[in-house]
Amino acid sequence: MSNAGSMDDFQQTLQRYDLCEACLQRLTKGTAEAFTQKPVSAQACWLCHGLFEEVPHFADLIAATLVGYEYGSFLIGSKIDDDLIAREAILWQHLGIQGEPMKMELNRRIGKILEPRLHKIVDFEHPDIVAMIDTSFDVVSLQISSLYVYGRYRKYSREIPQTKWPCRICRGKGCRFCGYKGKMYDTSVEELIAVPLLSAAQGTDHAFHGCGREDIDARMLGSGRPFVVELKNPKIRNVNLGQLAKVINDGAAKQAEALQLRFADKQDIERLKHADYRKVYHVLLEMSTPIPKERFIKTIQGLRGATIQQFTPTRVAHRRANKTRARTVYNCNVESVADTRANLTIETESGTYIKELVSGDGGKTQPNLSDMLGTPCVVRELDVIDVKGGITTWSYDRKERETKVGISCAKSRAHAASHPLRARYRLSKSATASASP
Ligand SMILES: [Zn+2]
Ligand SMILES: [Zn+2]
Repeated sequence: MSNAGSMDDFQQTLQRYDLCEACLQRLTKGTAEAFTQKPVSAQACWLCHGLFEEVPHFADLIAATLVGYEYGSFLIGSKIDDDLIAREAILWQHLGIQGEPMKMELNRRIGKILEPRLHKIVDFEHPDIVAMIDTSFDVVSLQISSLYVYGRYRKYSREIPQTKWPCRICRGKGCRFCGYKGKMYDTSVEELIAVPLLSAAQGTDHAFHGCGREDIDARMLGSGRPFVVELKNPKIRNVNLGQLAKVINDGAAKQAEALQLRFADKQDIERLKHADYRKVYHVLLEMSTPIPKERFIKTIQGLRGATIQQFTPTRVAHRRANKTRARTVYNCNVESVADTRANLTIETESGTYIKELVSGDGGKTQPNLSDMLGTPCVVRELDVIDVKGGITTWSYDRKERETKVGISCAKSRAHAASHPLRARYRLSKSATASASP
């Protein structure tokens, strides 16, 4: 088949349909003027039924929905009636083309109106808000990107867990067992930190991602433990973290403390989960029978550099897979020892169970201090006094991010300007203007 022949076929098929300027230009990739076919009015268009005339109306609806939200970038999405999509597929098939979908043009046109009006940029990769317009029902729904805040926390209380702990009977609904609170503990590090942040961001829900966790009865001291709080559906994004740290720490009433708050992004959660952080613990150890000081110190120092094998502890067996994990003890020091009590500092690889390293957990941890000392030992008090490391390189940096978005936006504008669709868009705009009486 010759080129001219296929062009004729295309033109002949196209002429069998009444199409508006916008649809004609889209189907001919902006070359409608090369065809003899005259566009019909938007309303009479077989394909879109005047959809593109409604673009300003859709833009108004979206702009009204976005009032009250703070965001730097947005993206438009649309849902078009199934009948229109089906007609478009039929037409493409008849013409033997895979054209640009109507909804892409619709999204772009709405975006072009809203960018200057809202003074915000369209971001295809990481928009703060996606506004979806359902054109059949004139309904706008928003998908709002979560706001992420990184920080480190200290926990001074031996009575609160790291994360909110739903009641094990009612799972959060509230029952007699939990005193209708829906949770096992009055508060948690998560709630102490996330609630003030969520309230400032006017979000709907929060999630807390810690870099590991300590037991409820263990304190978290020293440099604090890294975490990322996720605030879902925030209306406000530019919250003042310095001020909020103060609000959090005043409200936490010496139970916990938030440090070094800064904005983060979703990737930082993964980096927290996969990073290897050494932990330093303070242990108050109690022996069943006293041991000569010299021997005690020598035995404890024997743990330095040891690799221990820990089978999943009995107390967490219901929530962790049963297997043996190898962990390194980097350092071990005796701070003081008197009678049956001793204060130790132990530095280990992340994921080491300290209570079991001391007690032996019925032989499930090998070697262990009870066996090494020849007398059963238990941990009376446990504090994490340092979590070494943290996120030092950031995938999120407000300034860098804005520049990045600025560049990609400029790029996409340059791309659009050189694109045939761009020429078509200008053409159809001037055509509409000249067509008006
Ligand atoms: Zn049309
Ligand atoms: Zn309950």
